Amino acid sequence: MTKQIRVAVAGANGRMGQEVVKMLAQDTALVFTGNLDTRVSEEEINQQLDEMKPDVLVDFTTPHTVYRHMELCLARGVRPVVGTTGLTTEQLQEMSERYKEAGLGAIIAPNFAIGAILCMKFSAMAAKYMPHVEIIELHHDRKLDAPSGTALKTAEMIAAVREELKQGHPEEVETISGARGADYEGFRIHSVRLPGMVAHQEVLFGATGQTLSIRHDSINRESFMPGVNMAIKAVMNMNGLIYGLEHLFD
Ligand code: NAP
Repeated sequence: MTKQIRVAVAGANGRMGQEVVKMLAQDTALVFTGNLDTRVSEEEINQQLDEMKPDVLVDFTTPHTVYRHMELCLARGVRPVVGTTGLTTEQLQEMSERYKEAGLGAIIAPNFAIGAILCMKFSAMAAKYMPHVEIIELHHDRKLDAPSGTALKTAEMIAAVREELKQGHPEEVETISGARGADYEGFRIHSVRLPGMVAHQEVLFGATGQTLSIRHDSINRESFMPGVNMAIKAVMNMNGLIYGLEHLFD
């Protein structure tokens, strides 16, 4: 039998973390070594890691803690698979350089659902031909960051191929501030927060006499697990950091 991959989970008692623990129990190639909680002293953190000896740390915590966990992984030679959103572009860039320098694998993915990755890729394909676009992302009302990491990543992929264009009427006035959503390189992102939602995104394109809608819905948190499983196995053979699960697809 090939060696099992030892996986610690930060946030194992959270909504996503609980799904990860269930997924790990169903795959004999992976072993769950425990919940890493860093809201304790440095000494206790090191003690937890000494006991768990993880190869990989799966992180589904909060935007405030994830950067520190990335640093901790670097210091301990643990490969992070991060689903927590909210890292800034500067932090991502910095981590990318530091992991590359260390030759240590790391994956940060704002969305682990395969359908969401396809939604991003299809949106980038469409934006090349239909540059008038708005993104609407919809999530449960306990989400801390807005817009969602997925919406930001989608916007980034769209902006990379879309002709430069400031949308809307040049004399447009917002009579209530924020009515037109957030501006991202000339197009808009709207964030909806409601109980009952999980993670949803619609990318709307408009052109003369026609519209195109590309929509993805995660109807439960199990939808993210095949992607997390894939990332845990992939990160073991990587040097450096990738941002976005689409880099594991051809
Ligand atoms: P959640 O239910 O609030 O879970 C967060 C967990 O993190 C809680 O169990 C919390 O513990 C724990 N935690 C907080 N600080 C910690 C620390 N310093 N060390 C260890 N654990 C700590 O949130 P969630 O819905 O699972 O979402 C977690 C993150 O994943 C969010 O950023 C969300 O946007 C993201 N997300 C990503 C994807 C994706 O596909 N990439 C999909 C869904 C969600 P306590 O309960 O004890 O406070």
